[in-house]
Amino acid sequence: MSPIKLVVIAILLYLGYRLFISNWRGKKDKGADDSATEIKDDGGVEDVLVEDPVCHKLVPKKQAIRLKLVETSEIVYFCSEECCNIFVNQEGEKG
Ligand SMILES: [Zn+2]
Repeated sequence: MSPIKLVVIAILLYLGYRLFISNWRGKKDKGADDSATEIKDDGGVEDVLVEDPVCHKLVPKKQAIRLKLVETSEIVYFCSEECCNIFVNQEGEKG
């Protein structure tokens, strides 16, 4: 195989990749307006929304900060580390 052919193949692959990415992004942007309650990927992967017990914001499970409660081994999810810290402090005050 000549080196020129390899270069041509590489360019075609790159262009195909670019096309694929721009298509995929276009689809995503259309679907993702400001609807925070509905987060769905086209790949069939659904993201579950969990409620932050501190600020009651809904956060995608993937992005949420997890905290496992030692007593009940229940997992609590937070939108940010700040909320997690607030929760931990509150629990500390209770007990
Ligand atoms: Zn929060």
